[in-house]
Amino acid sequence: MIFVAAVLLQLLSVVLSHSDHTLLLLISFDGFRYDYLKLAAESGRKTPNFDELRAGGVDGLHVKNRFITKTFPNHYSIATGYDEESHGVTGNNFFDNVIRKKYSNDNMTDPLMWNNGTMDGGAEPVWVTNEKAAHSTLYPKRSGVIMWPGADAELHGKRPTYHITYNGSFPFEARVDKMMQWFSNEEKPINLGLLYFQEPDGTGHKFGPDSDEVLDKVVEMDKLVGYILKQLKKHRLLHRMNIIVTSDHGMAETPYVIQLDEYVDSSWYQMYGGSPVLNIDPIPGLCRPCCLGINLLPDQNTVLNFETTRVLSLLRQRRGCLQCPE
Ligand SMILES: [Zn+2]
Repeated sequence: MIFVAAVLLQLLSVVLSHSDHTLLLLISFDGFRYDYLKLAAESGRKTPNFDELRAGGVDGLHVKNRFITKTFPNHYSIATGYDEESHGVTGNNFFDNVIRKKYSNDNMTDPLMWNNGTMDGGAEPVWVTNEKAAHSTLYPKRSGVIMWPGADAELHGKRPTYHITYNGSFPFEARVDKMMQWFSNEEKPINLGLLYFQEPDGTGHKFGPDSDEVLDKVVEMDKLVGYILKQLKKHRLLHRMNIIVTSDHGMAETPYVIQLDEYVDSSWYQMYGGSPVLNIDPIPGLCRPCCLGINLLPDQNTVLNFETTRVLSLLRQRRGCLQCPE
């Protein structure tokens, strides 16, 4: 009898696992440059868990990020499938020139922040599309999102079933644990999870993308991938889980710095965004000082000359200052 029960339980388990639908976990490691794994291997560091994922699936050479290469725009492109000019999130903080409003970390719950582009009603992130499909299939569809840019706002009338807003000090393994709870929830399980980690981007910014510290962080992220795989096995989710590991952009050393204050008085314009691309909005009527700024450009650095001249030239055009002397 015990034997039969055991067999029945085993059969039940097989039937359930085969009849259950597939799941998707999308993981982003911020600023994980395409060659970090190669550089880690060349330095003698081991990344067995990334190796396991790559060997068992499809391995892309790189991700072609959008321009501007910032976290919010690229994560929102990944989630919506649209370029930045379409979804309109052109920076981690940016200025909407039509309604004259600045968006930043302070506006994450504002749907307009995520609907700034050319699309009627705004682009639709995949967690919303998934929630919308909840009743169109044989099984319920629910999304769980951990710290993915855009998920703080209600978009197209929907929020993910489960969501955690960005908190840099929230431990990485605890984020994984939370995601596992959502996938294996008995009442309302999710079929789609988006999971964000702010490394190795943070270490890259602190020590530079070509530093040993970044490669050490890559090894740490490899251990985290090992933890994710272990937890998926423990929760009996791995056999039906599709996993996508990706990133939003890479990182490069900057050979020079443009000190804009050396060329243009900071009281002549409003500035938004941050490196590597600034949004500069000149204060109306101050075109002539902008022209004066060009006269101050040094001749030695052609890159600096070109970039800064181009910026200032655009400023003049935007403000109808073409009459200013070159
Ligand atoms: Zn990023």
